[in-house]
Amino acid sequence: MTDKVRDGDSLIRVGIVGAAGRMGRELIQVALSNGAFKLEAAVVRAGSEWIGQDAGALVGAASAGVVISSDLAGLAEGLDVVIDFTGPSASLEHMRICAEHGVNMVIGTTGFTDEQKAQMAQFAEKTGILWAPNMGTSVNVAFKLIAMAAKALGGVDYDIEVLETHHRHKVDAPSGTALKMGEVLADALGWDFKEAGVLSREGMTGERQDKTIGFATLRGGDVAGEHTVLFLGEGERLEITHRSNSRKHWAQGSFRAALWISQQCGRGGVGLYSMDHVLGFLSEGV
Ligand code: NAD
Repeated sequence: MTDKVRDGDSLIRVGIVGAAGRMGRELIQVALSNGAFKLEAAVVRAGSEWIGQDAGALVGAASAGVVISSDLAGLAEGLDVVIDFTGPSASLEHMRICAEHGVNMVIGTTGFTDEQKAQMAQFAEKTGILWAPNMGTSVNVAFKLIAMAAKALGGVDYDIEVLETHHRHKVDAPSGTALKMGEVLADALGWDFKEAGVLSREGMTGERQDKTIGFATLRGGDVAGEHTVLFLGEGERLEITHRSNSRKHWAQGSFRAALWISQQCGRGGVGLYSMDHVLGFLSEGV
């Protein structure tokens, strides 16, 4: 734990990476209003037009007193925690830098391959990393609800499908949250998600196979994110839906995670964590 955090007499110094992105701007806004944190760095990609400007400009606020930069390595020593919402390759490079400087990370980026997730686990042996494909508090509660439903209903009498909708700019599909839902459902049923997941369908697919979890993806407009898990039985169906009306709850959840990892790990701490740790689901055995 850093002296600053341990003493409780100062603020947690946070750096936002991907600061000019959709999530980055939400995070800057929360950083400027959350009393436990001090915005210390706003990092954008090299060559960005924002470099050299004040971070407040990203959110239409008065001066934040932080100059936007692309040099995370040069700023890392002055940070307690970094929140990163960029892309898989960029996030891995940021993990390398933070591991080198012992700075904890909260990572919201989605779309990591299995190999990239293995690299993330290696960096987590050198610093604390909390990664969640969905930082929202209530969607993490939804993960528990769908696991409960899958265990109670089983995957034989009920066919399980996941439907997700996102804005037109999203680049990965199915969404990280939809895939996480699939993993949660497969775990609850004792299935291997790699075998059970049917991530898309097209053409003469034949009848639906048993022990599968199907996915459907919609893209368009400005939908922040909607996920429905359907348990389709004979003559009835159960639907569990989570809807995001804006990106704000992801930013707020990210700061809850940043506070948790700062208190849990501090500088020098290690480990790979998830929102389950933050919400106490693991310690309570939920
Ligand atoms: P976005 O494209 O609006 O923002 C990404 C930003 O990262 C861009 O500004 C880009 O320039 C910047 N960037 C890329 N490489 C960089 C680098 N090397 N250094 C600094 N900045 C860099 O995307 P977004 O909607 O903000 O989403 C970002 C990521 O977060 C995506 O993977 C998305 O799926 C994910 N996401 C996760 C959650 C969650 O709750 N975990 C919620 C929303 C989005």
